[in-house]
Amino acid sequence: MNIEINNLSFAYKDKLALDDINLTMESGDLVTILGPNGSGKSTLLKCIVSILKTNDGAIHIDGRSQKSYTPRELSQLIAYIPQSEICTMELNVFDTVMLGRKPYIGWHSSQEDLEKTERILLELDLEEFAFRSMQTLSGGQRQRVYIARAMIQEPKILLLDEPTANLDIYHQLKVMELLKKLAAEGMIIILTEHDINMASRYASKVIMLRNGKVFNCGDNSVFSEENIRNLYDIHASIHCLHDQIYVVPESIVK
Ligand code: ADP
Ligand code: MG
Repeated sequence: MNIEINNLSFAYKDKLALDDINLTMESGDLVTILGPNGSGKSTLLKCIVSILKTNDGAIHIDGRSQKSYTPRELSQLIAYIPQSEICTMELNVFDTVMLGRKPYIGWHSSQEDLEKTERILLELDLEEFAFRSMQTLSGGQRQRVYIARAMIQEPKILLLDEPTANLDIYHQLKVMELLKKLAAEGMIIILTEHDINMASRYASKVIMLRNGKVFNCGDNSVFSEENIRNLYDIHASIHCLHDQIYVVPESIVK
């Protein structure tokens, strides 16, 4: 499984949001997209999942043009969790997670679907909420339900827009460990993130986006003072502790 993005550009009317993006990602990659607000991170995820139709360039998934997949094929292949999902549904947690099986089931869910749902609820510490209405959950609890719903879809590619933004530190680590495990099992995980240190700890590949352009892409070596300054307009110091890189923001560039 791989994703190949060639010369991709996307504009909202006359506002160019992605400018000539070239990237490749493959099974096992845990890719983190970093960049300031408005740099195009969410737009890039939406182009990959085909919510936005690209103006220029091409996306190939497993050697096949993304445009040649049917919506059902794409929903079996890719799961996407948007930045903040407005919750208007009266559904309870269990049924919301079960909806993730929709690309596979007809009218009726099977015993296997029920068991998979139970298992994932346990894995994400959601069993105590199983029969609560989604509307009564906190933002972070709801975010975990959406992650559960995406995982139960058993996609080959999982896209998450700021998945840890609303989570407490315990669940941030828990979700990142889970994503690391899924990547190790062969999934392609692509997420956006504002926490540079979470990215340096978990990402196998980091994409730095600025003004819709890939300004840097690679392993942990992208975390240099110069790159952080050019990406975010901040001075930062880089430290190494137990073989781990830590970026400490110091001040803004005047
Ligand atoms: P990020 O996720 O990195 O904060 P986005 O991908 O959401 O950035 O946005 C990239 C650029 O496109 C921004 O300048 C933003 O204002 C613009 N943009 C995003 N969504 C829309 C939209 N629906 N209509 C017009 N412009 C948009
Ligand atoms: Mg965004």
